[in-house]
Amino acid sequence: MSTGYNNFVYSLTSMLNQIVPVLTKISLLPKLIGLINPQFRATSPYLFLRQAAVLADINLDSLMASGIRGIILDLDNTIVSEDDRYLSPEAVSWVSQAKQLGFKLFILSNGKRRYRVEYWSQFLELVAINPAKKPFPAAFRKAMNVMQLSPSAVVVIGDSRHTDVFGAWLAGCPSIQVASLPHPPRWWEKLLGKYVQTPYPKDRVLWDFQPQNHYMKR
Ligand SMILES: [Mg+2]
Repeated sequence: MSTGYNNFVYSLTSMLNQIVPVLTKISLLPKLIGLINPQFRATSPYLFLRQAAVLADINLDSLMASGIRGIILDLDNTIVSEDDRYLSPEAVSWVSQAKQLGFKLFILSNGKRRYRVEYWSQFLELVAINPAKKPFPAAFRKAMNVMQLSPSAVVVIGDSRHTDVFGAWLAGCPSIQVASLPHPPRWWEKLLGKYVQTPYPKDRVLWDFQPQNHYMKR
């Protein structure tokens, strides 16, 4: 081998030796690899699953054991379907159980109908940011500031990869994607929905929601 080639390999190796520990330290590298290779996620420091069908399937003890102390929750199609037809089974009791265990919770919603966000914020007794403009990280950072928690101690839970999962990644938080509660698809969801959402499993129970009993007439 030529000396030039050896020098090139040596410089490349020493450069990688400097960059990789920094990337690993700021946890970018594991996340980048995790996006490309799902198998890597199994060896990530988090003990919890990265996908679940419904909120109630997420084991709160596993979150706690992984060092999670805060939960950022999506509203539409995660807790309640955006057409107000379905409520995620056991979501309300899961939230109160999380509170009892000492988790700090926050709702981040991109929803345009503010009265719905206000209703769920009051009903669940959780602070909400709306519109959150996910995936941009400003709202995530604001929520973490209020909770006084670092990104590694906060899990983001939602049904959409392009807003919740990607937003969590931009903010440096781990995330869990839940299946989307059934809802009328928007035009772009008809084209790209399968890439950003997981359909609600056919064998899972659905809870009807009666918005007329909940929302004030506007
Ligand atoms: Mg959603």
